[in-house]
Amino acid sequence: MENIRRIDPISPDRERIREAAEIIRRGGTVAFPTETVYGLGANALDDEACKKIFSIKGRQQDNPIIVHINDFEQLESVAQGLRGKIREGFERVWPGPLTVVLEKKNVGIVPTAGLDTIAVRMPAHRIPQELIRESGRPIAAPSANKSGRPSPVFASEVFEDLGTKVSLILDGGPAYFGVESTVVIFKDGEIMILRPGAFSAEDLKEIFKMKVKISGVSSDTPISPGMKYRHYAPEKELYLGISEETILEECKRGDALFIGSAETAKKINSESIVLGSRKDLYEVAKNLFPSFRKLDKSRYSRGVIEGFEEKGIGLAIMNRIIKATGGRKLQNNEKRE
Ligand code: AMP
Ligand code: MG
Repeated sequence: MENIRRIDPISPDRERIREAAEIIRRGGTVAFPTETVYGLGANALDDEACKKIFSIKGRQQDNPIIVHINDFEQLESVAQGLRGKIREGFERVWPGPLTVVLEKKNVGIVPTAGLDTIAVRMPAHRIPQELIRESGRPIAAPSANKSGRPSPVFASEVFEDLGTKVSLILDGGPAYFGVESTVVIFKDGEIMILRPGAFSAEDLKEIFKMKVKISGVSSDTPISPGMKYRHYAPEKELYLGISEETILEECKRGDALFIGSAETAKKINSESIVLGSRKDLYEVAKNLFPSFRKLDKSRYSRGVIEGFEEKGIGLAIMNRIIKATGGRKLQNNEKRE
């Protein structure tokens, strides 16, 4: 674990930031916490550096990476087309967990997988902010997990997946939301959510005063290429329990580990992983990805997870659960889909 360094998330040590920024400038990779999950960053303008991200994660070449910026001036150096009311909206929500797909500026921005668009975000976490500022570069950063695995909320989970393949892991404690940013595109006066995330559909509607649509996951030519891959998944089989009754039955038999709300866990007379109260979906979101890793380390051969209301961050929670189950549902005792 010699590549992990502790750093204060509220007032990051300058020396540590300088060391990390130097690695970024020289074409290396640094993992760091953000307000969503841990990211694996490299200089977005350096082809070779970005290639390292793909190879370290085992990420498909056609899956572009979000570019992180610190201010609107830097945004304009990589992307164009953020104007009028939409720009005013972003002046309100940024920094924050909202990513927007824009037209790419004609500069050598590499991690866009040959698309003429670029996904950008201004993170609301002091560590990436300081890193972008100190390195003077826009930073390309996907989640710092091995491709397909649950996104990391803790530095130890980054190490678990990537080990010493990444030059430096900045351990600034847990990421704040525990789910990734919301990815949107503005088109024909509407907002299309390409990936639900920490920024809610309700807030989008309220701030931009536009109709909000949610893109289907299964289209043949997804605008957001990352959506087509099975994702966020534990190695063990995970089922979505459709009713409380089937969940109770399955867990009683003793070979499935329950993952879900404190309310349901109370009714189950076996071991379980409590995500939080159904009344606090932010708590549930924070514990979701780590629970998948706990399932893999447990003595159980499979997990059964319950659904949550698709309200606020609940939309992202359900999106991740469905992706993690690969569509497996527990209908009743006999039938597993
Ligand atoms: P990750 O970096 O792992 O958090 O995933 C980033 C998400 O943003 C993936 O679903 C990508 O497909 C999506 N994305 C990144 N760049 C673009 C882009 N230019 N157009 C559409 N989606 C994008
Ligand atoms: Mg990811």
